[in-house]
Amino acid sequence: MRAGSLPAVVEPIKLADSGTRLTGQLPVKAMGRLRALCLDESDKVSIDLSFERSSDRTLGRMQGTIVASLQVVCQRCLEKMTLVLRAEPSVILIRAQDREDIIGRDTDSLVVDGPILLSNIVEDELLLAMPMVPMHDIDACLAGEYRHRQERPNPFSVLGQLKHRD
Ligand SMILES: [Zn+2]
Repeated sequence: MRAGSLPAVVEPIKLADSGTRLTGQLPVKAMGRLRALCLDESDKVSIDLSFERSSDRTLGRMQGTIVASLQVVCQRCLEKMTLVLRAEPSVILIRAQDREDIIGRDTDSLVVDGPILLSNIVEDELLLAMPMVPMHDIDACLAGEYRHRQERPNPFSVLGQLKHRD
């Protein structure tokens, strides 16, 4: 499928039956919960998801990569930071009625009883990948810089030593 022509609504089972790969970008604007955490709602999410039929009794499988580069607030220094989120979902597609049978298995599942918003699937995966508290790396964080500065010897203490030598 051509990039940029992602369907808004998908039927994962049909996509799996036809072995479809979806690649393109979705706007953060379309994802309410994610947008609430971002400073710039023009940020984009890149997706590359493959749907394929599976050989067991499930309905299919979805796997691929979702990457978003988001502008958020660092919770340490409260300045803007770029948070790169990467999700690599690998989930089986099941119907709600089969959930009980399959839930014990060591695998992630996506309940697909009908058409769903592609942005919802993508948003759920990104929220799972989201750190509880987004922060700059300590070396890149203004709060970290402040801390380092405090740890350095005070240049005026050298003046004090000179004075004592007199
Ligand atoms: Zn910071």
